[in-house]
Order: sequence, then structure tokens, then C-alpha cells
Amino acid sequence: MLVVGVTGGIGSGKTTVTDLFAAQGIEIVDADVIARSIFDSTSATGQQALAAVAAKFGPQALLADGELDRAWLRQHIFTHPEAKQWLNELTHPLIRQQILEQLAQASSPYVILSAPLLVENRLTQLCDRVLVVDVDEHHQRQRTLTRDQVNASQVDAIMAAQASRTERLAAADNVIDNNGEPAALTKQVERLHELYLRLALAKAD
Ligand code: ATP
Repeated sequence: MLVVGVTGGIGSGKTTVTDLFAAQGIEIVDADVIARSIFDSTSATGQQALAAVAAKFGPQALLADGELDRAWLRQHIFTHPEAKQWLNELTHPLIRQQILEQLAQASSPYVILSAPLLVENRLTQLCDRVLVVDVDEHHQRQRTLTRDQVNASQVDAIMAAQASRTERLAAADNVIDNNGEPAALTKQVERLHELYLRLALAKAD
């Protein structure tokens, strides 16, 4: 199965773009959705991850009902960088495993792996092609501020923690320019969809 990784910084338009690929019948594996579900207590993986967190940080890391206390953990890793490192080492292999399982289950002609941190977390290793949704920093900031309940310095802090535009573009096989109107995306997605269908056929040969 051909795997196309889609990435871009905060507010670049990844979801807008992957929705257009989904409209063409392409399945989307979303690394963000998987990352949020890693502590889902109804799954075996979630139980394992919750037990590991409780063993590491004590019962204060869990709520009375056994779910993860996300607010406590967020605050704790904010002030304890080594705890953040430990948490990444726990969750990243679990996230990777779930991604691989979902990619293997996909049945569309090719599959998209959408991940804001595709480059930073080396998920590019799982992809045949990397598609970067590119936007200049002015549009990126404006769109994020319009969409989210955040202020400019919070957006800047998130942008600073992500790969730079240059680093992301260096990893790209294809680029979608999202500096224009949303309507300008449709043509770009259709052209790439045709390309990926051809590459998927060539890979299957
Ligand atoms: P994040 O990683 O932060 O979740 P994202 O990369 O998935 O963001 P989107 O949610 O698709 O980005 O887009 C960010 C915001 O910008 C959304 O509100 C979306 O509707 C809007 N947007 C996307 N593309 C355009 C465009 N070309 N013109 C104007 N607004 C746009």
C-alpha cells in the first residue's frame, strides 16, 4: 500500500486538505487522533499506558475513576522536562504501533498518514511520499488566531516548537500552496490524487 504522509505547521490547512482527499475516497490515518486515544481506558493499549503512568508518577496522575488526569500531567511535564521525555518514550512506540495497524487495515487505492509532527517524530520513515501543506507565517498565524481561543504569543510558542517551514519543505516530495483561497486547493489536490493513484499502481506491480 502506498502511504502518503501529509504534514504542515499549526493552522497550515492539513485538515482542510485531507478532507479533500477523503472526498476522493482516500482513507486518512490521523496521528493526532491516535495520540489522543493512547490513554483510552477501554483499550488494552490504554490500560497498559495508564498503568505505566500511575507506576511512574503515582496515583495523582489519575482521576478518581482511573482515567488520566490530563490537566495534572500537562502541568507536570511543563515544569519537568525529564517527565516529558519519559512520556514521549512511553507513548511514541504505542502511537507508531497504532498507526501501523491502521495503515495496514486501509483499503483505499492509497492511504494518507496525517501528522503535524511527521518530520519531527520521523514518521516520514513510514511514508512513500511526503506532502507538505505550505503557508507563509503571516497566514498561518492569522488563521490559527481566528480558529483557536489563543493569543499571538501562544501561537508563536507552538510555531517555535514545531519544525521550521524550511525544515518541513526539505522533507517534501510534493507541496501544496495554501496561501490563496480555499478553492485553490481543489485543483492541487486533484492533480496530486492522480499522481498518487499512478504511483500506487506502479508500487503494486
Ligand atoms: P492544526 O494542525 O492546527 O489542527 P491544520 O493544519 O489541520 O491545523 P486547518 O484546520 O485545516 O489546519 O486550517 C486552519 C484554519 O484555517 C481553519 O479554520 C481553516 O478553515 C482555515 N483555512 C484553511 N485553509 C484556508 C484558506 N486557504 N483560506 C482561508 N482559511 C483557510
